[in-house]
Amino acid sequence: MSDHLKLDNFARPVLSMPKENSNLLLHSCCAPCAGEIMEALAASNINTTVYFYNPNIHPTEEYEIRKNENKRFCDKLGFECIDGDYDKDNWFERIKGLEDEPERGKRCTQCFDMRFERSALFAQENGFGVYATTLGISRWKDMEQINSSGLRAAKRYEDVSYWDFNWRKQGGSSRMVEISKREEFYQQEYCGCVYSLRDTNRWRRKNNKDRIIRGVKFYS
Ligand code: SF4
Repeated sequence: MSDHLKLDNFARPVLSMPKENSNLLLHSCCAPCAGEIMEALAASNINTTVYFYNPNIHPTEEYEIRKNENKRFCDKLGFECIDGDYDKDNWFERIKGLEDEPERGKRCTQCFDMRFERSALFAQENGFGVYATTLGISRWKDMEQINSSGLRAAKRYEDVSYWDFNWRKQGGSSRMVEISKREEFYQQEYCGCVYSLRDTNRWRRKNNKDRIIRGVKFYS
């Protein structure tokens, strides 16, 4: 185990799964959110497979960058990375009528529901007793909204549980940034969908800031 995977460096107690003798399916939204969680899971010897299923990300080039950054880190830690479908047409269909919702509103609930329903299904079909998501580590997100969606999706299957661990605790949020800088991860500047890109640029315009230029910013 390399130095950066020792738990002493995490100030986080050893993690233990909510269900014994289960493997974990970790739904991942991006490398910056996943980095700290993946290292803590590796250091805790929790058998984890990463599931990248994010059809919300727009446009395709942005999706590919975020996915490849996540894969790069999976390879580094020796985690298997499952490449979920980029079924963006279904995503657009699902959030029809919610295009003008604010972030953390009803559109985001549908977006989480869709991603977690697929994650829970994959977990059920492939023998994972527990699934979790990296989404909650970001302070931009409403953790209660995420956990409600996570639990709702898990309820569909008797033998799949959702792990509602608070990844922000025990310094998780700050280590997330430290690890992102150490790994020089791609730094996305909007949540992911075309509407979050639109709204972030609107906010920037109103506040006399430059528009987002995608694909060029990395943590340093
Ligand atoms: S703002 Fe983020 S969570 Fe909400 S719908 Fe868009 S991509 Fe999904």
